[in-house]
Amino acid sequence: MDNKNWGIIATWRMAFDGITEGATMLQDNKSATDAVLTAVTRVEDYPYYKSVGYGGLPNEKGVVELDAAFMDGTTMALGAIASVKDVANPILVAEKLSRERFNSFMVGEGAEQWAFEQGFEKKEMLTERAQQHYIKRCRETLYRGLSPYTGHDTVGIAALDLDGNISVGTSTSGLFMKRPGRVGDSPVSGSGYYADSDIGAATATGLGEDLMKGCISYEIVRRMGEGMTPQQAADSTVNDLEKKLIARYGRAGDLSVVCINKDGDFGAATNIDSFSFSVETSKHPATIYVCERKGSETHYSPATQEWLDAYQARITAPIE
Ligand code: ASP
Repeated sequence: MDNKNWGIIATWRMAFDGITEGATMLQDNKSATDAVLTAVTRVEDYPYYKSVGYGGLPNEKGVVELDAAFMDGTTMALGAIASVKDVANPILVAEKLSRERFNSFMVGEGAEQWAFEQGFEKKEMLTERAQQHYIKRCRETLYRGLSPYTGHDTVGIAALDLDGNISVGTSTSGLFMKRPGRVGDSPVSGSGYYADSDIGAATATGLGEDLMKGCISYEIVRRMGEGMTPQQAADSTVNDLEKKLIARYGRAGDLSVVCINKDGDFGAATNIDSFSFSVETSKHPATIYVCERKGSETHYSPATQEWLDAYQARITAPIE
């Protein structure tokens, strides 16, 4: 497959530095897989992102449990890990598992053991800052009755390379204050991510329990395969799932997605007000977008300097 376009797109602002690095790699004819792994790893390693990798927020027992997945949309190979502790870069373990014929989705102790046997780095993933967040939330939950479950942001990154290969990866510490052993959509194929190089890829963030009810990423790729643009596929899938959940389940949690097709065109959709995403393609400069939902359409505009400054101040602010 030869393709003149390349592109990389990610959920949230936090992936911006990673995706610009990934974009440089794609322009240099590196693979979509390498670009995704590099970009996700950057987010995992940055201590101030409190929902992914090092610095991720812990479960209700104060332990950081991580989920990650990787899919190669050309070979359809996929690998995933869930509920793992002390693994420095879960995305790299997921990618290695995608190259295994069997046992490609592993959880808990078995996954950790395998990862360390394979030589992946072991690291205490709970930072002092994450611990402070935890203590603060325990206090708030106890005294003010706040929902322990607010607060999440999975990184999902999809890339298209010059050979026409599309890959996708996710990494998350899941919902803050989740029950030990709880697993969301991020490592689940078709829900947190999906890629098919003949069509495109999608990845999701939000309330895993609800994203999984609609196999949202697979559904977006399927709709793109039926001829929808990425934006149409993203908007219609989020709207349809939200409507169905409200009608039949009584409520819908946060649902946010990004996607890219094999021509390097992209889309994003959300049912919340605070969703941002990062993108760079051969046709589009590196941009952080902030989304706004208008009726059944998601509109986005580049993040203003004010927005970016407020973001940086928020993620580094002292915890009181
Ligand atoms: N979807 C993730 C989960 O439910 C959370 C997130 O996107 O932030 O685990």
